[in-house]
Amino acid sequence: MSKSVVVIAAHPDDEVLGCGATIASHVKNGDQVHVLILAEGLTSRGAKHQSEQFKPELSALRKAAEEANSILGSRSLLLKNFPDNRMDGVERLDIIKEIEDFIGLYNPQVVYTHHAGDVNIDHRCIHDAVIAACRPMPNKNLFSLLFFEVASSTEWRPPASGFAFSPNWYVNISSTLSLKIAALKAYQSEMRDWPHARSIQAIEHLAKWRGATVGVDAAEAFVLGRYIQS
Ligand SMILES: [Zn+2]
Repeated sequence: MSKSVVVIAAHPDDEVLGCGATIASHVKNGDQVHVLILAEGLTSRGAKHQSEQFKPELSALRKAAEEANSILGSRSLLLKNFPDNRMDGVERLDIIKEIEDFIGLYNPQVVYTHHAGDVNIDHRCIHDAVIAACRPMPNKNLFSLLFFEVASSTEWRPPASGFAFSPNWYVNISSTLSLKIAALKAYQSEMRDWPHARSIQAIEHLAKWRGATVGVDAAEAFVLGRYIQS
């Protein structure tokens, strides 16, 4: 049976880095995937928060997000403009309400979002907000809440300073890794050269290692937040 799947990410590219191949696998299985990206991206490169200063870059980044998600087959993509790397300055309830509205729209059975132990403050804020927005209540459809890793962010948080990412849920992406790589190439401005952790080679190596960990050719790894067996 076709499932409704929601991905909630901080920045344009996190959805692909975290679960791009899993999105493509859901789509192959006939599921409908809806992506919500809350922060605008890249404005943290300026000394102060001034979106105006980055208008052309932000518009190119939006286009990249649309292209990447069309490669993966996402049914919808909603880009909000919370301030990049400054989401700790936003009232938590405003973030939660945005997420609740999105979830209310699609009534997903599966939700993917950031892991709590991450160096990036927006990732951590969104993790907390998703937990609040996905609290289990009567008549909710949601049975599966999963946290992804974002290369060049999750592993940059030393394990002794937060929750270490210890995956216990794997998706075999042997047949969809190539779509993830193609989607990342759409985000060219966000990618870096090897041996940066956010290079194409590093993402391929990670996928292969996550796969080898569980005996398949390639995998994306997650931490299961909650599962409700019906
Ligand atoms: Zn991010």
